[in-house]
Amino acid sequence: MRHRIVVLGAGYAGAYSAGVLARRLDPADTEITVVNAVPDFVERLRLHQLAAGQDLKKHRLADIFAGTGVRLRLARVEAVDVARKSVVLDDGELSYDTLLYTLGSTVADHGVPGVAEHAFHVTDRAAALRLRERLDGLGEGGRVLVVGDGLTGIETATEIAESRPGLKVALAARGEPGDWLSPGARRHLRQAFDRFGITVHGHTSVSRVETTGAIGADGTVFAAEATVWCGGFAVHPIAADSGLEATATGQIVVDDTMRSVSHPDVYAAGDSVHVIGENGRPLPMSCASAGFTSMQATGAIIGRLTGRKVPSTALKYVGNHISLGRRDAIFQMVDGEARAKSWFLRGRAAAHFKSGILKGSIWSTNHPTFGMPTRKHRLAAAPERSTAAAVA
Ligand SMILES: Cc1cc2nc3c(=O)[nH]c(=O)nc-3n(C[C@H](O)[C@H](O)[C@H](O)COP(=O)(O)OP(=O)(O)OC[C@H]3O[C@@H](n4cnc5c(N)ncnc54)[C@H](O)[C@@H]3O)c2cc1C
Repeated sequence: MRHRIVVLGAGYAGAYSAGVLARRLDPADTEITVVNAVPDFVERLRLHQLAAGQDLKKHRLADIFAGTGVRLRLARVEAVDVARKSVVLDDGELSYDTLLYTLGSTVADHGVPGVAEHAFHVTDRAAALRLRERLDGLGEGGRVLVVGDGLTGIETATEIAESRPGLKVALAARGEPGDWLSPGARRHLRQAFDRFGITVHGHTSVSRVETTGAIGADGTVFAAEATVWCGGFAVHPIAADSGLEATATGQIVVDDTMRSVSHPDVYAAGDSVHVIGENGRPLPMSCASAGFTSMQATGAIIGRLTGRKVPSTALKYVGNHISLGRRDAIFQMVDGEARAKSWFLRGRAAAHFKSGILKGSIWSTNHPTFGMPTRKHRLAAAPERSTAAAVA
């Protein structure tokens, strides 16, 4: 009887983790299954590019896992039954002995009326393609309003403005756009907005989205043929609904090895996990956080199953990397308190750096154990096996 490890989600956290587990654990006594809704590895970091009209390289999960022994199950996760140690899928059920939950996040509408019905977003591939189709249908002078001046809002507004110079792009921000950046980086951002002709509506809180645009809290109307909601990310409710201990926002509460504090056979990584970083603050939802939490989660799973020491991964957050179209970017370093340092990188050098990071994240998904010992470990004792229903 092999120990069944099920990984939910094959994004930055899940695809990397499954690759590590399959390469480090002996298939004689472990079986690793990854469940993902779509057949491709989706580079979420590039979805604003896809929405703007650029074609992205496809990365098939079947190719990424080829030869590793990972079993890929294409299905949508509907629920986790933690009592029966079973995952409910849209086409059956899957039992586990150890579960790694990495379902990522989706758009957060913050309860603003009209967002779900009328706004576009870029947090998943289907949504990015819907926006692209809408942009394709807009004529010269078509108006696009991006709501939010976080990383995704800035990247989306600049990417659309650069790729589609015929459109009129505006950005609505709660405060001064980029007021969380250092003064120099903020100046660079303003110059980029001017260069792209992006109209900035600062100190604007959007209270409603309609088919014809957005309405500010003070009643100001921002007319637009496409409103793009970049108000942040929210996790899927599946974890909290399953009875796993979760925060009020639905992120899974774990110990410092990424193990659920309520269910020790469940681990979590990526956007789905609530974890305090080295600076004493929750790690932001980001690709870097997905990397560190996955490293920690896989290290802990392998350590505990094989009777080895559980390693400790430093959970750092060093900075924000914001693309401004394809030829410009800002890399803003942050200090131990997560405040912007005065040092930042800008322009083509920052754009090259970001391009390297994007390529590096795909490379590490394909080579997750590069530099690690290649020996596969046997489990320490007779593998645990749940008595739950058989695999569907
Ligand atoms: C446009 C955009 C730009 C970004 N830019 C940056 C950036 O520059 N730097 C940065 O650090 N972060 C950036 N992010 C954030 C980053 O993409 C996320 O933090 C990261 O993807 C989190 O990784 P994850 O593995 O937790 O989730 P994901 O990468 O989202 O992976 C989750 C996986 O689970 C699958 N899934 C979800 N629900 C289900 C279900 N019910 N059933 C089956 N499968 C399911 C999804 O298909 C996906 O494959 C950006 C995000 C967006 C949208």
